[in-house]
Amino acid sequence: MLILVLIDGLSADYVAAHRARLPHLTGLADEGLSVARLAASVPGTSMPGRASILTGVGADRHGIYGNHILDGDSFRPVHPEDLRVPGLLGRAAAAGLDAAGIGFALARPQDVRTYVGPWWIRGFIGGSRFAKQAARRDWRAVETRRDPGGRLAAMAGVGLPYRPGPEDGPFDAARDLMLGMASDRALADWVAGLACTDSPPDLIVTEIDMPDYVQHGWGYESDPAHWALATADLLVGALLARLAAAGRRDDTVIAVTSDHGHAPIRRAIHPEALLPGAVWEAEGALLNVILDGRWTEAAATRELAESGAVPLGPAHLPADVRGRMASFAAPDGHSFEPAMPGDGAPDLFGPPMMVSSHGLRPGHPADERICLLAGPGVPRRRLDVAAAETLAPTLARLLGLPPTATDGPTLLDLPAAPG
Ligand SMILES: [Zn+2]
Repeated sequence: MLILVLIDGLSADYVAAHRARLPHLTGLADEGLSVARLAASVPGTSMPGRASILTGVGADRHGIYGNHILDGDSFRPVHPEDLRVPGLLGRAAAAGLDAAGIGFALARPQDVRTYVGPWWIRGFIGGSRFAKQAARRDWRAVETRRDPGGRLAAMAGVGLPYRPGPEDGPFDAARDLMLGMASDRALADWVAGLACTDSPPDLIVTEIDMPDYVQHGWGYESDPAHWALATADLLVGALLARLAAAGRRDDTVIAVTSDHGHAPIRRAIHPEALLPGAVWEAEGALLNVILDGRWTEAAATRELAESGAVPLGPAHLPADVRGRMASFAAPDGHSFEPAMPGDGAPDLFGPPMMVSSHGLRPGHPADERICLLAGPGVPRRRLDVAAAETLAPTLARLLGLPPTATDGPTLLDLPAAPG
């Protein structure tokens, strides 16, 4: 059995500086293969990060080049069906493996036998600024539960939660924090419960999401962020303890990684101050602008220069998207956010709503995350750095899946760091 746990927004920098706050992750790192700095996907945002983990190829090939992608003349949130290459779950399904997606945002329900949708999807959809949201309907299908054989239902019968998600209601920060933590905890309970049944899946993919939400809202290395990250560590520790108690620890590979890092943001850039009438989407420190007769790449580059933003070039975009959209990176300490509605023209800069963020320039160290692997078939080895593309073929190899033409080198093939 292989269990992949994605901790959203757990940065390489944070782990390096706060090992003592993360005792279970540190123990896992000492036990197996650890990568201190796994490069971020480009862009370093949540959905591209998940797509990279599942496929091992860049956004130019897997097609998830942002949390929102082009849909005609506007942007919409991405959906699992937008993945252009078969990911780990599709390959596992083709090989006849029994896989479970428990709250993993880019899992396609039809690729896994047991499925629970991600609990934060409604908030993600609500966060889109655009009225055209075809994905809203599609995501509803993703919220479906699949439980043939009744393994989840059986767990509900012995006291594990059957509804992990927050209920709808007016925004309330304290309630949303509590429900987010409760949802992460519920999904972790289900993962441990499934792994310890008499017929455990071959593969479970899951995520722990509150560290990202709390860092965005309360700040990098803030007390609430320490609390959220320590809680994520505790959930991994609880999973390890339950596997050990069930006698499953020795035949389970645990993989822990993140989709991207996090970095403090001092100031927000309001794109509407420089690009009046343009259609754009802010992705943390990255801005995507739709190109049209007025807003060419050259014109947008010229205007955005006043903010210090620079064009990224098209390397991360699929061929059919190049020339239709351009991406720009904010200078250090800045992100892009819509201006608050008010009187008159919007100011170019303002205080950020999200005081920590990601999706920084390609290669920015603060976007980097970690990767930990421990269990049968995993050597004890410490790697300083690895490319983002190495994780998917590593997981495929550990699952015994036949290699594909896109599989590059795995983490198991890389030499250990000296010393
Ligand atoms: Zn994320």
